Amino acid sequence: MASYYGIMVVEDKTRVKDYLNKTKLKYLDYVINPYVGCPNKCLYCYAAYMSSFSKHSEEWGEFIDIKHTNKKINTFKIKNKKVMISTVTDPYNSYEKKYKITRMIMEQLVKSEALITIVTKSKLVLRDIDLLKKMKKVEVAVSISLLDENLKKKIEPNSSSIKERLETLKVLKQNGIRTIVFISPIIPEITDFKRIIEATKDFTDEYWFDKLNLRSSFKTKMFRFIREEYPLYKTIYEDIYNKKNSKYFDEISDEVVKYCEKNKISYKNFYAGT
Ligand code: SF4
Repeated sequence: MASYYGIMVVEDKTRVKDYLNKTKLKYLDYVINPYVGCPNKCLYCYAAYMSSFSKHSEEWGEFIDIKHTNKKINTFKIKNKKVMISTVTDPYNSYEKKYKITRMIMEQLVKSEALITIVTKSKLVLRDIDLLKKMKKVEVAVSISLLDENLKKKIEPNSSSIKERLETLKVLKQNGIRTIVFISPIIPEITDFKRIIEATKDFTDEYWFDKLNLRSSFKTKMFRFIREEYPLYKTIYEDIYNKKNSKYFDEISDEVVKYCEKNKISYKNFYAGT
């Protein structure tokens, strides 16, 4: 058991058949998740459902399984395919510093002809800039939902600060790596996508958008957070997530499209299907 920023995290190893997993997710062919679990502990973590596929009784965010396999990644199979690292963990979470599973996977992918998309909230991705620079088709998506550091500490307690993420994007860009800002999740009344674009547009090639989905235990956590920190937004959240009113996000989606088209910004709006 290791302590990470005051949280006790149970570390374990798990053997898998293959790091590559086929996916039905939009825009993707394969996903690679080097870990099961994520110590970043974002309040809204949509990946918490993965707990039910693990043997752990600990809460999501309080265990991490380090994936091992002897099988090499079949780079022929993924030629010209789209591969995302990762979808249900941060591949550069704090345990990557010690175990280097993501780095080992990247070493296998250096000569691959696949489009590799790395999604992270961590400055640790810069450790692997030597590999990123050698890769044929690679892009790094840094997730940013808000710019306020104090709010970030409450909602995304264990990931890199916003300042570090902005700096990470800049360094990636300076090194010729394609950069994406993944504005995800769009947290109702909290995420200001225009301000995030303004703060990042000089070193970002593309923007991705996705909305906050709330289910099960993390819905309870987010609702508690809104009740305590932003009681005025309670009705809006109830309308969206209890009454299933799609109007709020439909309007944001229209705004995203208008703003990006007007400002000639390259974008993908994951929840509106554009
Ligand atoms: S970084 Fe992603 S997977 Fe990790 S806790 Fe946050 S939302 Fe979940």
